[in-house]
Amino acid sequence: MHGPTPATLTRTRICPDCDGFATAAITSGVRHDDGSRVLLRVDCRVCHGTGSVPLRPRLTTADLEVAA
Ligand SMILES: [Zn+2]
Repeated sequence: MHGPTPATLTRTRICPDCDGFATAAITSGVRHDDGSRVLLRVDCRVCHGTGSVPLRPRLTTADLEVAA
Protein backbone atom coordinates (compact mmCIF):
# COMPACT_ATOMS: atom_id res chain seq x y z
CA MET A 1 0.00 0.00 0.00
CA HIS A 2 1.30 3.38 -0.95
CA GLY A 3 1.51 5.94 1.86
CA PRO A 4 1.78 9.67 1.73
CA THR A 5 5.10 11.17 0.69
CA PRO A 6 6.97 12.51 3.73
CA ALA A 7 7.41 16.26 3.75
CA THR A 8 11.18 15.79 3.93
CA LEU A 9 11.18 14.32 0.39
CA THR A 10 9.24 17.16 -1.17
CA ARG A 11 9.75 20.90 -1.35
CA THR A 12 7.45 21.28 1.62
CA ARG A 13 7.73 21.10 5.37
CA ILE A 14 5.31 19.77 7.93
CA CYS A 15 2.79 22.41 8.90
CA PRO A 16 3.98 24.10 12.11
CA ASP A 17 0.42 24.79 13.19
CA CYS A 18 -1.00 21.25 13.14
CA ASP A 19 2.21 19.11 12.97
CA GLY A 20 0.80 17.26 9.97
CA PHE A 21 -2.52 16.32 11.55
CA ALA A 22 -4.38 18.61 9.20
CA THR A 23 -7.97 17.48 9.67
CA ALA A 24 -9.85 16.93 12.90
CA ALA A 25 -13.10 14.97 13.06
CA ILE A 26 -15.36 16.22 15.83
CA THR A 27 -18.48 14.41 16.92
CA SER A 28 -21.58 16.59 16.96
CA GLY A 29 -23.50 14.47 19.44
CA VAL A 30 -26.07 13.56 16.79
CA ARG A 31 -26.36 10.14 15.16
CA HIS A 32 -27.41 9.06 11.68
CA ASP A 33 -30.35 6.69 11.26
CA ASP A 34 -27.87 3.77 10.99
CA GLY A 35 -26.38 4.65 14.37
CA SER A 36 -23.12 6.15 13.13
CA ARG A 37 -22.05 9.48 14.53
CA VAL A 38 -22.39 12.75 12.63
CA LEU A 39 -18.87 14.12 12.32
CA LEU A 40 -17.70 17.62 11.59
CA ARG A 41 -14.42 17.65 9.67
CA VAL A 42 -12.35 20.74 10.28
CA ASP A 43 -9.22 21.51 8.25
CA CYS A 44 -6.21 23.38 9.57
CA ARG A 45 -6.47 27.04 8.59
CA VAL A 46 -2.77 27.36 7.80
CA CYS A 47 -2.27 24.37 5.46
CA HIS A 48 -5.93 23.98 4.39
CA GLY A 49 -5.97 20.28 5.26
CA THR A 50 -2.80 19.23 3.45
CA GLY A 51 -0.54 18.87 6.50
CA SER A 52 2.39 20.61 4.83
CA VAL A 53 3.37 24.10 3.80
CA PRO A 54 5.80 25.23 1.10
CA LEU A 55 9.39 25.82 2.06
CA ARG A 56 10.40 29.43 2.47
CA PRO A 57 12.70 30.60 -0.30
CA ARG A 58 16.34 30.67 0.69
CA LEU A 59 17.92 34.00 1.41
CA THR A 60 20.45 35.16 -1.12
CA THR A 61 23.08 37.80 -0.66
CA ALA A 62 20.93 40.15 -2.73
CA ASP A 63 18.21 39.86 -0.06
CA LEU A 64 20.48 40.93 2.76
CA GLU A 65 20.84 44.56 3.71
CA VAL A 66 24.36 45.74 4.31
CA ALA A 67 24.69 47.95 7.36
CA ALA A 68 27.08 50.78 6.73
ZN1 LIG B 1 -1.75 22.61 9.19
